[in-house]
Amino acid sequence: MPAPPYVGRFAPSPTGPLHWGSALAAFGSWLHARHRGGRWLVRIEDLDPPRERPGAAAAQLAALQRLGLHADGDVVQQSQRHTHYRRALDALLASGHAFPCLCSRADLAASDGIHRACVAVPEGARRTRSFRLRVADEVIGFDDPVHGRFEQNLRREVGDVVLRRADGLWAYQLAVVVDDAAQGVTHVVRGADLLDSTPRQIALQRALGLATPQYLHLPLWRDAEGRKLSKSDGADAIDGLPVETVLRRCWASLGQPLDAWPAWQGPEATVAAAALAFDPARIPRERPPAA
Ligand code: GLU
Repeated sequence: MPAPPYVGRFAPSPTGPLHWGSALAAFGSWLHARHRGGRWLVRIEDLDPPRERPGAAAAQLAALQRLGLHADGDVVQQSQRHTHYRRALDALLASGHAFPCLCSRADLAASDGIHRACVAVPEGARRTRSFRLRVADEVIGFDDPVHGRFEQNLRREVGDVVLRRADGLWAYQLAVVVDDAAQGVTHVVRGADLLDSTPRQIALQRALGLATPQYLHLPLWRDAEGRKLSKSDGADAIDGLPVETVLRRCWASLGQPLDAWPAWQGPEATVAAAALAFDPARIPRERPPAA
């Protein structure tokens, strides 16, 4: 069977303006898709209202436009897709892969926060239910073109994965798997902070009978203290910086030589030329210090 045509995506959470780290994920996923002649989708992951900032999604989309990174097709918003997550959870409950859980965080303290079995909840205790994916005692791994083989035993290292939180919010892990499949995503190119979410997502895909896309994790953009940048800290917004400065610095951060960076011809034409010059084999595990 021929491989399905390349579909990539960028999936920001609207917790703040685009910063260096998310610009790198946006441009890196765009370059990887366009270099392969693929489509590139944008999905707003707005499932956690307490962490969201009003206007952040619009600001992120405007920043992408300014960078010349245009999505194919409509931008999908996870807040409009609750019925799809409900359906997936119902299927997992029906097949026995998911179960309701009354354990509180305190209940899991004795097992380092790792859920392997439900504790006995005292009679009459008022608790709201979460729902979890039951994970097996097996190694789940994948081959990342940048990071090599990455493996986890979910039962030992992670525990049963929350799918719907006790406060009723859908968990990222469920929503991302449902949506990547619904959108026909074949290649997930995103920051290395999500490397250790990937085995959970593969376990969920298997439980739901969905195909596993290829995963590639880009180097993280750390602050001067070596911490990951976070939109919600207001860290390093790129708004207001010249577009070429942002794109060139991301290009160098993706391990691409600056002498391969095309002459500036406006955002769209420059990124199109960059996609032809892009060499995915050069993407480093860590951002080059000079970038
Ligand atoms: N929404 C996630 C974030 O902004 C990214 C999800 C993904 O790329 O899988 O960190």
